[in-house]
Amino acid sequence: MTQKERVLNELTWRHSVCSTRFLEAHIPRAAARIAELRAEGYLIVTETCNDPYHNHKTRQVQYRLQQPEQTVFFSDDVIKVVHG
Ligand SMILES: [Zn+2]
Repeated sequence: MTQKERVLNELTWRHSVCSTRFLEAHIPRAAARIAELRAEGYLIVTETCNDPYHNHKTRQVQYRLQQPEQTVFFSDDVIKVVHG
């Protein structure tokens, strides 16, 4: 598995992934890999990590993968309901 595949794997199977987790998983350039995935069309959101168990001393980010097909399906459903 390439580093990019490992990053995608983490994002797919977890709700959100803290940047420190990528360091623990020995993916030091996760931000660069995420930039590549975004360029391929993946919707990856960057947020501040607020997990109290991580006990960060400085601001750390976490990444979350959005599933666009679910959103499209849901809005189609809503449109059908609205138009009867
Ligand atoms: Zn964290």
